[in-house]
Order: sequence, then structure tokens, then C-alpha cells
Amino acid sequence: MSKLLLFVLVLVVIYVLRKSMSKATHSAEGLTRAPRTAEVETINACAHCGVLVPRSEGLVSAQGFFCSAEHMSLGPRDQA
Ligand SMILES: [Zn+2]
Repeated sequence: MSKLLLFVLVLVVIYVLRKSMSKATHSAEGLTRAPRTAEVETINACAHCGVLVPRSEGLVSAQGFFCSAEHMSLGPRDQA
């Protein structure tokens, strides 16, 4: 009987430890998320196909913003 009580006690301790650990990771995420929202990137539409691309992943030329080098060489859709 005492072995059963010990087993239940161990399970309770594991449960409490895991719960406190998950709380700790959640609060850590909360701390790391705040700066991330400050790095919100501008999304631009490709002048050729209109697909929305983060500004850092696209290409900018005198003709406008493009999603790829291929679309930049093709130029804006209005002029094509
Ligand atoms: Zn495009």
C-alpha cells in the first residue's frame, strides 16, 4: 500500500514540475515575442503578378517592386 502511495506521490510531483516548467516557457515566449512585433516587415505587391512579398525578399527597380528577377525582367504588367 505504501508503494502505491509513493507511486501516486511521484506522479503528482512530475505533474506539478511539468506544469511549472510549461508556465516558465510560456512567460519566456512572452518576453521574446515583444521585440519580434517591433520587427514587422512591410509587404509589397509585385508589379508584375501582384503577389504579396516581404520587402526583404523582393527586388526593387526603377519600374517598381517585384517578387523575382524573372518578373523584374518582364516588367510591370500594365506596360507588358
Ligand atoms: Zn511577381
